[in-house]
Amino acid sequence: CGVFGVWAPRRDVARLTYFGLRALQHRGQESAGIAVGDGATVMVRKDLGLVGQVFSEADLSSLPGQLAVGHVRYGTAGAKSWEAAQPHLSSIGDVIIALAHNGTLVNTDDLRDQLADLGASFLSNSDSEVAAQLIGYFTQRTSHLREGIRKTMEIIRGGYAMTLINEQALYAFRDPNGIRPLVLGRLPNPGFDDADVSMLPAKQRDHVGDRGVSVPAEESPDGWVVASETCALDIVGAEYVRDIRPGEIVRISAEGIVSERGVAPAEPAACIFEQVYFARPDSIMDGKSVYACRYDMGRRLAREAPAAADMVIGVPDSGLPPAEGFAHESGIPFGEGLIKNRYIARTFIEPAQELRAMGVRMKLNPLRDNVAGRRLVLVDDSIVRGTTMRQIVRMLRGAGAREIHVRVNCPEVVWPCFYGIDTDTQDQLISATRSAAEVCDFIGADTLAFLSIEGLIASVPGAGHCAACFTGRYPVSIPDDFGREKFL
Ligand code: 5GP
Ligand code: SF4
Ligand code: MG
Repeated sequence: CGVFGVWAPRRDVARLTYFGLRALQHRGQESAGIAVGDGATVMVRKDLGLVGQVFSEADLSSLPGQLAVGHVRYGTAGAKSWEAAQPHLSSIGDVIIALAHNGTLVNTDDLRDQLADLGASFLSNSDSEVAAQLIGYFTQRTSHLREGIRKTMEIIRGGYAMTLINEQALYAFRDPNGIRPLVLGRLPNPGFDDADVSMLPAKQRDHVGDRGVSVPAEESPDGWVVASETCALDIVGAEYVRDIRPGEIVRISAEGIVSERGVAPAEPAACIFEQVYFARPDSIMDGKSVYACRYDMGRRLAREAPAAADMVIGVPDSGLPPAEGFAHESGIPFGEGLIKNRYIARTFIEPAQELRAMGVRMKLNPLRDNVAGRRLVLVDDSIVRGTTMRQIVRMLRGAGAREIHVRVNCPEVVWPCFYGIDTDTQDQLISATRSAAEVCDFIGADTLAFLSIEGLIASVPGAGHCAACFTGRYPVSIPDDFGREKFL
């Protein structure tokens, strides 16, 4: 999923959110939603479909406010339904909040039962709705939204990056391992002191996250933006400030911007699949563009698993940067071999296997001029179920390719993800039950090789990564490991 948040009283926040969500559309195409706060209340509009389908000009005009959050969804937990679309509203007593969540929580079944015992009712089976209701519940009990968020962060487990509003404040917070990404940006204001890039006087900077330090409202810029990826900051003209830190809560309101610790940060474990596949190549993560990471993966792949060939081609879109890197490193010319229909959404969104199979043919067509009679290196970001690659190889052979050497810029996906990427259950992962040679056979390639885990990790910057879908080393205990704990 993709999340967005903006506090900018002098701007059209619904429209900024709309554009932010359009930039994050690749993170989910199932549903889209925007909630705005206008000082008095919170309103939400959401529906199934793409951002451009859900919101008309009239919808945006009818959402006035000073702050907003938005969400695009691809379902990992919960069914595909209007009720599962986000932001989730929770209204308990006079506490009204809207929550947008990217990630998956691993212990919400238990928490849902406990909330239900206290009389809560749920519209969906989504983990995000449980989080929204928990925050509402604790806020009601403590009379402080910040306390409600903090208590919720203490008991939820998993990967999450959340943006939340009430009628007047925007909150952004992130799981203690920093599994799901979340960045902070600033809307430009000519009067704002640019030297103060990290919002705080230098001597206080190191303490952000340990205690609340605030910047007075008069020193605030036009507004603040929070988003899953920097490409959403770019589109609204916001400048990247920094990442929201693992375990941190940032609160933005007319009183200024405040950072404080929600929960203690744990071992850093940013999802490495963001750089492999999920994020947009023009986004910056840990100071390096996702494009540059993928290019690097391709270069390493060429060193680890060279192939004799006439041309290197990539599977659009996420296979193109590593294909360029492979070509650069190997000296084999890079060429276009597959043309993508840009108007078809990502295939993994289609729930049924037959639809997925159909999806590849609707989306990609071989470029006969380049592939006929040639020995090809075919680079793609990942093999998950194997369906995509099998069909691509078949199509390329049909177009006359002489040899096809498949190179994949991540290791074999053998473990399921529990933190918000839909790599499916283990029985769907082709490499979980088959050797590389068997997968090669299944997809019909001449040779097949994967980037090593060392090669992958060396391609991305950052303090520490989750790579559990490749290694099985999960940074947060997975559902089966959880005993039932009484929290409420
Ligand atoms: P598959 O092997 O599942 O047929 O397709 C893998 C390809 O589709 C990858 O190249 C990736 O671009 C995309 N993809 C398909 N399904 C998923 C999924 O569930 N998660 C992720 N991250 N990528 C997927
Ligand atoms: Fe990302 Fe894989 Fe970890 Fe899931 S298991 S958070 S996809 S690295
Ligand atoms: Mg792909």
